[in-house]
Amino acid sequence: MKIKERIALQFTLLVAAILLLFSLAIYSVSEHYRQEEFYDRLKSRAETTCRLLVKVQGIDKHLLKAIDQNTLSEMLDEKVLIFDSQNEMVYSSVDDKLLTYQASLLDEVRKERYIEYHQGENEVIGLLYQDESEPLVVLASAYDTFGHSKLTNLKHTLGWGLLAGIAVTIGLGIYFAGNALRPISRINEQVSLITAQNLSQKLDEGDRKDEIAQLAINFNTVLARLNNAFEQQKSFVSHASHELRTPLAALKSEIQLGQRFTKNNTELEEVFGNLFSDTERLISITNSLLFLARSYENSTNFKMTTIHIEDLVFVAKDELLTSHPAYRVDIDYERIPENGNETVVKGNEELLKRVLVNLLDNACKYSSDQHASIIISTDPKFCTVKVRDNGIGISENDLPHIFDPFFRATQAADQPGFGIGLSICQRIIELHHGTISVTSEMGVGSEFKVQLEHV
Ligand code: ADP
Repeated sequence: MKIKERIALQFTLLVAAILLLFSLAIYSVSEHYRQEEFYDRLKSRAETTCRLLVKVQGIDKHLLKAIDQNTLSEMLDEKVLIFDSQNEMVYSSVDDKLLTYQASLLDEVRKERYIEYHQGENEVIGLLYQDESEPLVVLASAYDTFGHSKLTNLKHTLGWGLLAGIAVTIGLGIYFAGNALRPISRINEQVSLITAQNLSQKLDEGDRKDEIAQLAINFNTVLARLNNAFEQQKSFVSHASHELRTPLAALKSEIQLGQRFTKNNTELEEVFGNLFSDTERLISITNSLLFLARSYENSTNFKMTTIHIEDLVFVAKDELLTSHPAYRVDIDYERIPENGNETVVKGNEELLKRVLVNLLDNACKYSSDQHASIIISTDPKFCTVKVRDNGIGISENDLPHIFDPFFRATQAADQPGFGIGLSICQRIIELHHGTISVTSEMGVGSEFKVQLEHV
């Protein structure tokens, strides 16, 4: 779940819980007041009935009942029963005794003088009425129709209010969480655009006051340090390789000079021969490192022209076979392009040739038959070159690393090389905004695929 959704959910749950508690509190307080008011009403009704019966001359039971039956609200289901000290009912406002009672209840009223309780949905009070005459026990009961209907209305209002409150809270929660997290999403987008090539880019620091701005400021500081370290590393490799080139070239010529004096001395001849090939290797590594370092320093400085891939493939094949006459290379078309332009790409000829020579060289070098196939294919957008061999293959564990500088698989150990060729190929293809990928199976062979957008 996204942080935005989590915040919205937590906010909604919190507000819903507060609203619910608030509604329950309002409902129960209202119910409590309703009950209190109703008991008071019943009490005064009981006292009035007793007073009329006992004190008012000329009002007897029958008259009082007639008055009660005509004045007591039927809706409220009111009943008043009056008992003398022998628990004999001396008066009932209704004919049928709907109010059930026991003698113990009457005794309790005499003891407590006043009690309140429920009977079903009705509220009942018991009251001991005492003046100069004999004490009477009055039981009065009724159903608070109006109070209950008011409470039901209140319940519905609170219920709908709660639902509306939750709906509004969800909307507001999503809106405010989205608003609060928008700067983080913006930072996220900016961070995802930062690569090793544009470490100098900075994140938007906003007003530099809130926590998110602080995060951006700290991130920028880390970026600046990283960029610095990266630049230092690049310039070190570039300077070191550049500085090494002159003494290495001098060393090479001195070895060549020395070789003139080794005639007729086979041991010296071998030593000088080894010195010469080692120096060549050193020069090659230095040049490769210098190329890689410079390609990061000024990636836009390469001369770009239109290149016919099929021509370049032939040139690369010729160059490789000149230095390795034992190698064999087949060139094939997977699909003859309908449009002549489908094999024309914009790029640097020298660099792209270097990629092809490198891939072909590896394919022949790592195959016992020293044989490579090169397959050209096109589609409406891309021109694809595949270099295929039936060689030793690359293990699944090594595959993710073969484009790393200086990585060599263990089974490649008996072949010459220093593991920098493929990282150069990858960098060159990157400079051409293309892709390079590999599929391979141990003991079966490998296929390197280069894809470039054609003109
Ligand atoms: P090098 O060939 O000089 O070692 P590369 O950078 O060209 O350096 O290749 C890196 C590693 O990738 C090689 O050492 C080898 O283990 C593996 N590799 C490259 N091409 C092939 C291939 N066609 N078949 C098998 N392994 C290969």
